[in-house]
Amino acid sequence: MVASDQLYACPKCRQAPLRQAEHDGLACPTCGTSFPMVRGVRRFVETEHYAGSFGYQWNRFAQTQLDSAQGTTRSRDAFVQKTGWNLDDLRGTRVLDAGCGMGRYAEVCAQAGAEIHGFDLSNSVDAAVVNLAPHPNARICQGDIFAPPFAPGSFDYIYSLGVLDHTPDTRRAFLSLVPLLKPGGRIAIWVYWAELAKMFPGSKWLRKVTPRLPKPLLMQLCRLAVPLYYVHRVPYVGTITSKVLPTSMDVNPEWRMLDTFDWYSPRFHSMHTPEEVHGWFTEAGLTDLAAGPFQVSVSGRRPA
Ligand SMILES: [Zn+2]
Repeated sequence: MVASDQLYACPKCRQAPLRQAEHDGLACPTCGTSFPMVRGVRRFVETEHYAGSFGYQWNRFAQTQLDSAQGTTRSRDAFVQKTGWNLDDLRGTRVLDAGCGMGRYAEVCAQAGAEIHGFDLSNSVDAAVVNLAPHPNARICQGDIFAPPFAPGSFDYIYSLGVLDHTPDTRRAFLSLVPLLKPGGRIAIWVYWAELAKMFPGSKWLRKVTPRLPKPLLMQLCRLAVPLYYVHRVPYVGTITSKVLPTSMDVNPEWRMLDTFDWYSPRFHSMHTPEEVHGWFTEAGLTDLAAGPFQVSVSGRRPA
C-alpha cells in the first residue's frame, strides 16, 4: 500500500505527488506545507472546523453501526441500496469514501476487496482507523471535502452517504469530488430529502437551539429518544408527538440515541429535492444517472 501515498495531493496548491517528510509525514514540494501522521492518520487539516459534532458522535458511538462489531449487515445493506452498486464489482478497484465517519461503509468496501480510502473533516477518523485496522486494503486520512487531498482522476468509485448535506454548500461539495474520478468511474451520493422538513416540522424549531448546546448535554437529552419511541407509537397521541418532538424510531435503542444526536447536533443540515440533485450530476457532466429507493440517492458515471 506504500504506492497509495502517490494518490495524495496538496490541498492548497493541488500539487501531486507529495514528497516523504520526517516522522512518516508528507510535504508539498511547491508550497512547503507539511502534513503529519498523527495516531496513524494523515492530517491534511488542522481543525475539525464545522464538523466537531461528528468527531464527538463517532468517537462516542464508534462501533454501534459497524457490521463486524454488531454481527449485522445493516451497513452493507444500506450501502448497496444507497449506491445501487454490486459489491462484487468493487473487488480490485480503488474507492473513495468522502466523509467516512467511523468507517461503517469503508468496512463494507474493504470486505468486498476494494482498495478503500476514507477521509473526513472530523476527528471521527480516529475511530475509523481503529475500526479498519484489520484491513490492510483500507487507508484513512483527515481532510476537507472542499479541498480534497487527492490527485485528480484517482478513483474508480466515489461515494458520500449522508455527508454533503452537513457541509456549508452541498452542491459545491459534490462538485469538488467529481474531478477525483477516473474517466469511466462512478459516483453515488445520498442526502436528506426536502420532504423530511414537512414530515418532522418540530425539528426545524428545535434545531435553532440544539446545535449550539454543549455536546455532552445534547447527548444526554438524546437519551429521551429511547422511551419516546414508545410514545410516538401510541395511536393518535404519537401522531402529534412525533411531529412536535421528532426522534429516531430505530428498533435498536443505542442506534436511536445516536441517530437522534446525528439529527439535532450538526451545524449544517440541509435538505434537497431529487430534481436538484439530478441537476448537479448533469452540471458535472455525468451520465447513466440512476436514482435509488432511498430519497435522495443518485449515482452517475464520468464519461470514459
Ligand atoms: Zn502545496
